[in-house]
Amino acid sequence: MKTTQTWNLDDIVRLDEYLPLLADVEKRLPRYGEFFERFSPDMSTDLFKEFLAFDESVDLDMIRLSGRVMLMESTNIKDKQAMTFKTQLKNLDLQLSSATIALSQWLKGIEVDGKTRLDDENAKRLFAVSGDLEYGLHFGRKAAGYHLPQKEELIIRNKDSNGVGVVNDLYNMITSDFRFEFCPPGKKVCTIDTIDELNRYTFSADPAERQEAFRSRFDQYEKNIEKLFVSYQAIVKNWVYESRLRGYVSPISMRNVDNHLSDKAIETLLGVCEQNTAIFQRLFIWKAKQLGLEKLRRVDFFAPLGSESQTIELKPSIDQVLENFREFSPKFSDYAKLIIEKNHVDFLPRANKRSGAFCMSIGPKIAPYVMTNFAGRMTDKFTIAHELGHGVHMLYASDHSIGAMHANLPLMETASTFGEMVVFEKTLLATTDKQVKKQLLAEKLFDSYATIMRQNYFTKFEIAAHNASEKEFSIEVLNKLWLDNLAEQFGDSVAVDKMFQYEWAYIPHIFSTPFYCYAYSFGELLSMALYKRYKDEGESFVGKIEQILAAGGSQDPANILGSVGINMEDPDFWQGSFSIVEDWLKQLETL
Ligand SMILES: [Zn+2]
Repeated sequence: MKTTQTWNLDDIVRLDEYLPLLADVEKRLPRYGEFFERFSPDMSTDLFKEFLAFDESVDLDMIRLSGRVMLMESTNIKDKQAMTFKTQLKNLDLQLSSATIALSQWLKGIEVDGKTRLDDENAKRLFAVSGDLEYGLHFGRKAAGYHLPQKEELIIRNKDSNGVGVVNDLYNMITSDFRFEFCPPGKKVCTIDTIDELNRYTFSADPAERQEAFRSRFDQYEKNIEKLFVSYQAIVKNWVYESRLRGYVSPISMRNVDNHLSDKAIETLLGVCEQNTAIFQRLFIWKAKQLGLEKLRRVDFFAPLGSESQTIELKPSIDQVLENFREFSPKFSDYAKLIIEKNHVDFLPRANKRSGAFCMSIGPKIAPYVMTNFAGRMTDKFTIAHELGHGVHMLYASDHSIGAMHANLPLMETASTFGEMVVFEKTLLATTDKQVKKQLLAEKLFDSYATIMRQNYFTKFEIAAHNASEKEFSIEVLNKLWLDNLAEQFGDSVAVDKMFQYEWAYIPHIFSTPFYCYAYSFGELLSMALYKRYKDEGESFVGKIEQILAAGGSQDPANILGSVGINMEDPDFWQGSFSIVEDWLKQLETL
């Protein structure tokens, strides 16, 4: 098994074939116009099928072109060849969207000049022959139901790019200008230029240094709070206004519809979170004891627990991931193995390679690609499991056409989190060293706090802030909403310094992408709840998981889950994921 070399990207498109392929796609683009000329509501289903086949072929080639460039860049950010390709690809992308925009609007039921509108009945007739694309096509029409007339859409788009878009740019400019007053021990220089550098000191073993790092951070936010407030106010009021204009029932609903989710599912999720705050509060109490404190301070969350965690090797880590996958399902493991054997993984860090990890699909016919930066930490093994899990999901769904193979947001993290859970739990079971086990569990639980509870409470804050924007809106109101939000999460388990009242201004997502944060927790919680069902039901549940994975994005997520007896609007289902977290906590408490 090759694990040290870089991946083979020639399976996507060879370098010498790149530009010819690009030229070929460009040559095909005028056919979109020819098709559209022949389109009318009463057109034949054969014509529509012919169009879909053509569109699929263009999509497949476009993803090969963009995939090759993206992957080249991610392992060498200075790749000159990739940069040249990218410029040409951008051009082609623009040509493609202008060739298809009227046609795709027409399919969504939007009025297009010179055409009779595609009515619901004919849309149904045509979409019925589209196979697995049917759900996506109807979803497009449903989302377009919130569209305004074309002229108004154009005004909004322009006003956004010169209005709220600029406000968000300003937020980024203001915060990236921050220079932090902070003196690291033994250093004379007392200014730190970036937040990332400053944040490293929030992990310090010295309590005073942690406190000081947070103080330094929030000093900047406090000094600039008027500017940040004005930005946030504009963003929130704009969002509330637009959601009403488009006919959404609530501000958050504008995000939910986009995410293929019902408002009720999100309400249920947030409600269940609220009922489980005590689990993480116990974690904070446990950590206080470990640190010898009477009560944990908010600034102690990242305090180290002593010993460094052990290091691991790449080859045995991969073997273990594949073996653990196999115990769960041979097919799951075979798919992961296929990705590795095809040499579609780039495991190790090196100069000019992007940080982090990801999995990328190149359509249903080519095995997906995975990039990691394995550095020998225990968590790096779980990252491999996570990203291979994404790849496995794509292979399960590779019988679908390109427009239907990718799971929509609610199910996007199913195989990745599942794979990660399988490997984490097996690792935990096999770990006999008490200290290592403690480290593993504590890390996992604080991770869970950050992705689950904290993100959901961001969303709760946003709901409150968006509601308040129509009544009394001020810095004081937001500060209070934030502190109340923290008090609800922490109860009596954490001492929160008053400086944290400015923390809302530190969360970039609530500025750039309102109501996005629950996406992080949703996928993770859903997969954990599925994992709980697997633990309870055993072997018989494996087939159901595989059925969910194989569905890809070909159906409404609620239906995919419904077909295996799961209801996202049922609190009991979500509770399953918290019982897993609580089980980890119990293990930690008894160590
Ligand atoms: Zn993921």
